[in-house]
Amino acid sequence: MRKTMLTGVRPSGSLTLGNYLGAIKNFVDKQELYDSYIFLADLHAITSYIEPKKLKHAIKDAIAMYLACGVDPKRTTIFKQSDVLEHGTLGFIMTFQTKISELSRMTQYKSKANTCHKDGVDTGLFVYPTLMVADILLYNTHIVPVGKDQQQHVELTRDLAERFNKRYGNTFEMPDVYVAPVGNKILNLQNPLEKMNKSDDGNNKGTIFLLDDIDIAKKKIMSAVTDGYNRVHFDEDNQPGISNLMSILSKITGEDFSSIEQRYLGRGYGEFKREVAEVVADLLRDIQAKYRIYCDEELQNHILVEGAKQAETIAKETLFRVKQSMGLQ
Ligand code: AMP
Repeated sequence: MRKTMLTGVRPSGSLTLGNYLGAIKNFVDKQELYDSYIFLADLHAITSYIEPKKLKHAIKDAIAMYLACGVDPKRTTIFKQSDVLEHGTLGFIMTFQTKISELSRMTQYKSKANTCHKDGVDTGLFVYPTLMVADILLYNTHIVPVGKDQQQHVELTRDLAERFNKRYGNTFEMPDVYVAPVGNKILNLQNPLEKMNKSDDGNNKGTIFLLDDIDIAKKKIMSAVTDGYNRVHFDEDNQPGISNLMSILSKITGEDFSSIEQRYLGRGYGEFKREVAEVVADLLRDIQAKYRIYCDEELQNHILVEGAKQAETIAKETLFRVKQSMGLQ
């Protein structure tokens, strides 16, 4: 029996180089080997307020981006989370299997709850991990390729699946997380102690968006914060900026760190940054050319309708099994 792979990205802003290298590329590289599912996590996009027009645009943008990045609808089921109602129902059920303490220790909740929200913290920020648990379990998923920031969510999924199976009998498949060794946490170019995020510090200099103007993207790389060592060397603790640029280069070209270090022995950061800028520019050019083709609304709707039908079939079967196990059916 073929194994199942699933991942999702929130359509909450333009996708970044971090999303591509940390999650989408890993998925695309493996999509032929699995029964593959990728979803637009639109219910996760509304965990805090997002302007409806912006959300609508972000959804279209994200599906065009998936396709432009190489997600192949012939090999992969592409769907919108909110089109498959079972996500909500199973999310609700899984929330009831979860301890408050388990959700309170989720790092994303802890960091965001401490910084923003002077009017109080949205419940969405607290409970969204159990929806993520449902997203994964609904498809009998074996492997979840994600960036490092999502590892904890897959661990929670395993804990809850195990608890449920013990309590109600064997119902869920145990998923494994796949965090790629390189590029699992692309850092902000201006502050290489922080993750590269969709929402940057306001001037967006630290984040490369997949739709960035090519010259602007190159400038962002050229002005990336580095250090005073002046040696191209992979050392995340002492040279986080240079190590980040090495990860970007290595993940795109496949060249390993020691080979990059060898090539740049005795050469300066300027030359190195120029190479990274060119490689990123080529990648963006390719993605952007395809993106324009995939913005076609009719094509997108067709893919999403077909995707939702296929996803729904599996999701319904799983939810039926869950309800049977629990005595609801
Ligand atoms: P999000 O944008 O938070 O919905 O994340 C979607 C996927 O992209 C998840 O698998 C994240 O782990 C991954 N991701 C987001 N930002 C980064 C980053 N800076 N580096 C590596 N992976 C990332």
